[in-house]
Amino acid sequence: MFDTLSERLGGIFDGLTGRGALSEKDVSAALREIRVALLEADVALPVVKDFIGNVKSRAVGEEVIRSVKPGQQVIKIVYDALIEMLGGEDSDSSLRIDSPPAVILMAGLQGSGKTTTTGKLAKRLSEKERKKVLLASLDTRRPAAMEQLAILADQCGDNVVSLPIIQGQLATDIARRAMNAAKLGGYDVLILDTAGRTTIDEQMMNEVAEIADIADPSETLLVADSLTGQDAVETANRFHARLPLTGLVLTRMDGDGRGGAALSMRAVTGLPIKFMGVGEKLDGLDAFDAKRVAGRILG
Ligand code: GDP
Repeated sequence: MFDTLSERLGGIFDGLTGRGALSEKDVSAALREIRVALLEADVALPVVKDFIGNVKSRAVGEEVIRSVKPGQQVIKIVYDALIEMLGGEDSDSSLRIDSPPAVILMAGLQGSGKTTTTGKLAKRLSEKERKKVLLASLDTRRPAAMEQLAILADQCGDNVVSLPIIQGQLATDIARRAMNAAKLGGYDVLILDTAGRTTIDEQMMNEVAEIADIADPSETLLVADSLTGQDAVETANRFHARLPLTGLVLTRMDGDGRGGAALSMRAVTGLPIKFMGVGEKLDGLDAFDAKRVAGRILG
């Protein structure tokens, strides 16, 4: 679909081998290509501008290493800058779940993959960390969403249980009931799957904010669809303004997007990306890997 950025940069520097330092003129042609590639990868414009500034200050004046082509040298600078902006090579995806029952609050728009991610996290915590996990759906307007979570809990094995559904309760009442059940049942983790809407509205925000107040979560994760690009950034900003978010989960990273949403969301919110959804199945959740995403943006 695209010429990769690596190929384009290689072309620009073809005639330029081993002669002193990279000049501003050499670098500016490369920066134009980087700019186009990032915009094509769906990175938000202000983030692209920051990034270009960062790369420029690193690249101009850099000695051309004789053994390496200048194109590759700039690619390495871009790659390193991408990793840094994505949170660094050792980005930490661990969850703070020390004092049981620790609450993880899941927020996000409808269709972002919130309920699926709730199931995936439960499976990961029970299998990898031997945690006993209680799941509760607070989506009082969509009985199907509650059923979906119960089915996912069943698929996760004995250590994952979903809170019995009682019709007619308010989301805040379900949250309180879930917290009690988690305490009494000796659960390590309670994951609250909040209601999503197709677009952000005040009522939804008020409800999620109220639940966050009641549940005092140790982690509040925003689930966002990486394929929605710039919209995902806007969503992250709106949720970040209302909720004590502690991290992001980007879903559909198995799709054909270039990963630009990851860079934008991280840069705009400053929040760590903790996990990436890489498939519909329950084991389709990977710890966020900055190197992998940087490689993908570079192409
Ligand atoms: P919710 O409305 O936010 O709770 O979204 P759901 O969890 O119901 O997910 C919506 C759709 O996206 C479902 O068909 C999921 O199987 C699918 N989905 C969720 N996460 C991923 C992912 O990481 N990759 C892919 N390919 N599909 C996903």
